[in-house]
Amino acid sequence: MTEKKEKKKKTKKPRGVARLIPGKCIACGARCEAACAKEAVTMNDQGEPIIDEEKCIGCNKCIKVCPSEALEIYYTPEELKILAALEKEKGAEAEVEEVDEEEGRIAAKLKEYKDVWVFVEQTEGEAATVSWELLGVGARLAQALGVQLCSVVVGSKVEALSHESCAYGAAASYLVDDPVFLNYRTEAYRDAVCHLVKKYKPQILLIGATGLGRDLAGAVATKLATGLTADCTGLDIDKHGFLLQTRPAFGGNIMATIVTERHRPQMATVRPHVMPMPEKNTSRKGKIIRESLKVDKEDLAVKVLEIIHDAKGKDAVDVTAAEIIVSGGAGMQSKENFAILQELADEIGGVVGASRRAVDACWMPSECQIGQTGKTVGPKIYIACGISGAIQHLVGMQGSDVIIAINNDRHAPIFEVSTYGIVGDVFKVVPAITRRIRELRAQK
Ligand code: FAD
Repeated sequence: MTEKKEKKKKTKKPRGVARLIPGKCIACGARCEAACAKEAVTMNDQGEPIIDEEKCIGCNKCIKVCPSEALEIYYTPEELKILAALEKEKGAEAEVEEVDEEEGRIAAKLKEYKDVWVFVEQTEGEAATVSWELLGVGARLAQALGVQLCSVVVGSKVEALSHESCAYGAAASYLVDDPVFLNYRTEAYRDAVCHLVKKYKPQILLIGATGLGRDLAGAVATKLATGLTADCTGLDIDKHGFLLQTRPAFGGNIMATIVTERHRPQMATVRPHVMPMPEKNTSRKGKIIRESLKVDKEDLAVKVLEIIHDAKGKDAVDVTAAEIIVSGGAGMQSKENFAILQELADEIGGVVGASRRAVDACWMPSECQIGQTGKTVGPKIYIACGISGAIQHLVGMQGSDVIIAINNDRHAPIFEVSTYGIVGDVFKVVPAITRRIRELRAQK
């Protein structure tokens, strides 16, 4: 048995090297270069790969991602002879052993990564609420994996946020607190997060899909050479312990579930209001792990000269903060007709939102658009008036507590997600609801 095993180990299956088949490359955008873990592929001016045979290990990754089958594995005549001999004897077995070795190495590396982390975004010491929402979903993921939920806080004089993150469920908080991190700058924050990840090895890292979060997540994932799924609408753990990252794909027509199998951490961004807010318990305490990192502000390419706060007019509508939204779509037929939605919204303390078709028709401003390319909202009540319920709209509002749909087409998809559906003409139903609310108020 031992002798047999020893003999098998000596049989090295040649792996060959990748080679370009002339005339087949379609210059797809360097997918082969991105797939190569050994930096053996570089691109020429025509966007075709140049393969460094010294670095190539014949792992096949570039071949798998090539959409035009323009790459192949090349073996020397000697290697071909060994392959033929192996095939004749126990070729298949030798191959299994080679693959197992590679898989084993990756599995051992992945095991080093443990906890679930949430990056706490802050501006001038105030946390973005999406960070707390992520701690809510992070707690569920950590529980499924049997690991700790931790937060990451980077800034200047922001220790309070580490404590606050524990009140929202983090068992521990990694804190990088230094004046150089006073204002967000990609390089500095990226280096701080990467430093922590390399040292403490989380298996999952969640970041809010805000302007800042999107910028940071991309920079961190690139530096760590790991996968990142942006704008997830669902997160779960599969039976192998992988993070299932669900998001709309192909213009929102399908929901894709993405898994990062071979790299860590598994990174995902989630838009505000997609995940429910967890309960805050100020008596809950956690461990604060302070980390210092030398970043010389003179080395940073970006200098913050002035901070100009968002000059929102006093009448500006923030649909993301509203508890009640009365939303109109193409069924409203004109800008003027949105007045009946405004009347209803005023009556019940809500704001008016819109579908993309209503925004494209210039009936409503773009900041009111709800959906995949608009805002994601999670109000207590969402009233959809003359909105069909296209998937791109649904991904922005289906997290609402109660959805009331008014549509004259009983087969409209909006009814599939609505809590209450009214089949009828918006121009009759909406004023009738407003009238009834006024009557009830008058009776009080
Ligand atoms: P329609 O689909 O035309 O529906 C109008 C509805 O009104 C119909 O169901 C009709 O039965 C009903 N109706 C008509 N008259 C009346 C009446 N008198 N009374 C009652 N009901 C009536 N869309 C978004 O909303 N947000 C996004 O962020 C977004 N992003 C997108 C991103 C991409 C990449 C793509 C490809 C599309 C995106 N869309 C988005 C567009 C989306 O696919 C739909 O086209 C859009 O949501 C349709 O808007 P609507 O429901 O108002 O119009």
